[in-house]
Amino acid sequence: MKKNILTCKRIKKRFREVMAISNVDINLKDGEIMSILGPSGCGKTTLLRIIAGLETPDSGKITLKENTLYENNLFVEPNLRGIGMVFQEYALFPHLTVKENILFGIRSLSKKDQHRILEDILKLTRVEELELRYPSELSGGQQQRVALARTLATKPNILLMDEPFSNLDASLRTTVRTEVKEILKRSNTSTIFVTHDKEEAFSISDKVAIMFEGVIHQVDPPDKIYFWPETKQVASLTGSCEFIDGIIDGSYVITSLGRIPRRVTEDIVDGTRVDVAIRPNDFIMKADPSANNVVIRKEFRGEDTLFWIKTSGGDIICCKHKIHTTLFVGLKVMLAAEKYANFNVFRKCDENNENRTS
Ligand code: ATP
Repeated sequence: MKKNILTCKRIKKRFREVMAISNVDINLKDGEIMSILGPSGCGKTTLLRIIAGLETPDSGKITLKENTLYENNLFVEPNLRGIGMVFQEYALFPHLTVKENILFGIRSLSKKDQHRILEDILKLTRVEELELRYPSELSGGQQQRVALARTLATKPNILLMDEPFSNLDASLRTTVRTEVKEILKRSNTSTIFVTHDKEEAFSISDKVAIMFEGVIHQVDPPDKIYFWPETKQVASLTGSCEFIDGIIDGSYVITSLGRIPRRVTEDIVDGTRVDVAIRPNDFIMKADPSANNVVIRKEFRGEDTLFWIKTSGGDIICCKHKIHTTLFVGLKVMLAAEKYANFNVFRKCDENNENRTS
């Protein structure tokens, strides 16, 4: 089992009336890539800056490789933490070549060590053929790789990346993030990566931490986050999701779509009123003139089409379907739970139980 390399315990940070970070716990294992995913202003950058030492928390404890970086009166300066950072702006020195940019961070080492590291890093990040170019002569993706090369050359204990792909256009972003993931895995670099893009977080990470208003709601592998969200907010943030009313009936839930299987994680008494999370893939549908569900909206997306269906009970749910020509607005359709679907249910909000899954 891999060891924790970074531990943040009960970190708090307030900016005047804004509670930016509230009792946050983070554990990063050796070689692991973790994303922090959340909407704008939820505290992602503040958390990253606290770990880097660019911001001081109000309380909590941060440990890196068994060394305390922050606790009470103890504060280790950023330059002594051994933490590498890559930002969206890359911050390469424009007047230095790629090779000189990489060597800059390791200039205090012997010439022999500098060249050994340079050679390894150029190979690792596949920028060998670019070493004599200046940043202005590189594409956005190449600049990103050089920024990463420059940081990795310093052999940081962990790497922090804040929205590193947001300056790249959409077509390049997918390729660059695949390359970056490969580089991080090959070099076994423990990384925390901040993003507000769920696809980016899912594709690059071993673990995703979902954050809202300074609070972490769930930390899990991407597939678990998507299929087993622990709060309604996590379900909504991680993909298209509608919520319909339901009443618990054993391992099923009674809804306006009939009795459908639910994911059972704890005892919840029959008759409890819940919200049922419905993903577009959860249902199959078929034209059926005798059904009471009607297609009210249709959106062609290329590989598939989304259909919004109003059920007989007045709920609106979104379904995904490959066929788009024979299904149209106004059509009556039969809906059935997808064979392997297990619907996540959330207790209706009350003062004792704020949206937690059941
Ligand atoms: P984004 O995705 O838009 O970059 P974020 O999730 O990174 O947002 P933060 O930048 O960490 O969010 O900000 C969290 C909250 O703290 C916001 O409400 C922000 O306005 C506030 N905040 C951040 N830095 C400061 C500061 N120096 N002074 C006052 N408030 C701040």
